[in-house]
Amino acid sequence: MKMCIACGMPMTSLGDYPLHDMSKNYCKHCAHNDGTMKTFDEKWQEVALRYANNHHIDYSIAKHTAYVILKKLPAWKRKW
Ligand SMILES: [Zn+2]
Repeated sequence: MKMCIACGMPMTSLGDYPLHDMSKNYCKHCAHNDGTMKTFDEKWQEVALRYANNHHIDYSIAKHTAYVILKKLPAWKRKW
């Protein structure tokens, strides 16, 4: 089973892939509408916002937490 390199989500069905393209290593949540992968900054903001909302914490704290989470994933390990 593949795991999204950009957010860590397990990709279990064709519907999890961007544009149903199974050759991709990232999921549809990490892709733009044209199927290209989102940037670190885009994912960072997205994850931070979700984290802040879900856990009712400060956005600045959520942003730090999101950074730590994302940095562990293969897509962002080396570049950042
Ligand atoms: Zn993803």
